[in-house]
Amino acid sequence: MKNVICQNKFLDKEHCGWIHFKVDLPYVLNWESDWNRYWLTLDEKGKEMFGCILRPPRIEENYLSCNRCGGSHKNFRDATDEEYDNIYGSTISGILDSTVDFEVRDIGPRRKND
Ligand SMILES: [Zn+2]
Repeated sequence: MKNVICQNKFLDKEHCGWIHFKVDLPYVLNWESDWNRYWLTLDEKGKEMFGCILRPPRIEENYLSCNRCGGSHKNFRDATDEEYDNIYGSTISGILDSTVDFEVRDIGPRRKND
């Protein structure tokens, strides 16, 4: 997976600079599908443990915005090795490839349970 860096503004900084790893659309669609199936197997305690009592986690909450600044996945670029080396000790997470135009309504059927 390729590391990418957030280019959204954050507080007084020109660029947020948070590193994520880039994932493609099939990856996030599979991730959400797997969560939908797994969530149905969980009892209330299990759902509470994952912090998803009312419904499983969704793509828009996990892969469309920066974990630090909340900025759009559309404003990321490939990170350099030096930028990646500077995040030692940090946890990085996935974010949808910035070249992918994804809208929540693209999923459709999952909204039936809202
Ligand atoms: Zn950011």
